[in-house]
Amino acid sequence: MSTTVAAALVDALLPARTGEAWVVKRGQRIRIIDVEGQAICDFVCFNADNLRERFSQARTKADQGRFAITAGNRLYSRDNNAMLTIVEDSYGDHDLQWGMCSAWVFGNLRRNYHGMKSSVAVGGPLGLPEFGCYEVLQEALRPWAIAPEDIPDPFNIFQTMELDPERKALAIVTGRSRPGDHLDMRAEMDVLCAVSACPFAGRPLRVQVFEA
Ligand SMILES: [Zn+2]
Repeated sequence: MSTTVAAALVDALLPARTGEAWVVKRGQRIRIIDVEGQAICDFVCFNADNLRERFSQARTKADQGRFAITAGNRLYSRDNNAMLTIVEDSYGDHDLQWGMCSAWVFGNLRRNYHGMKSSVAVGGPLGLPEFGCYEVLQEALRPWAIAPEDIPDPFNIFQTMELDPERKALAIVTGRSRPGDHLDMRAEMDVLCAVSACPFAGRPLRVQVFEA
């Protein structure tokens, strides 16, 4: 039996600390690839036909009873509409707790920002960043005129969260993904998807979109 390999509609290499956005049509598949390993992808999405309807971290957790998601799970909007379904995942559970990094986060790391373990090398090979996913996604979403305050909290692909139920504390565990790790999501509606190659991790991503 021969296997047909579909040509990618989009095949984009995103250098570390850059972002981009695409409309993925219902039934199409978006693939996020960790090129070198140890990357993080901050992912947000919107209903392409109604940009006010956007991804909800909270509904995605509550509607599935999970604080992290993997293959078989879905990304939901505030109105509980399925936006994307994870159909393939070589990594494991991806984080849904954390907000995105930003210029503010990096400016406040040593003062009043909690949750970073002291062992975490912020910025990866590129060192401490001056801006974060918040600024990267604002730029990526500029063609759709989405206001910064309308960018939802993200789905953190290739990021793992460590929970301490005793202290009610949580912390990011970095460096779990390997080169070539990927996550595939099928669009359940026409979805505007925006991706940031997280400045916190400082590693590139590759994004592909396929017909199915
Ligand atoms: Zn980030």
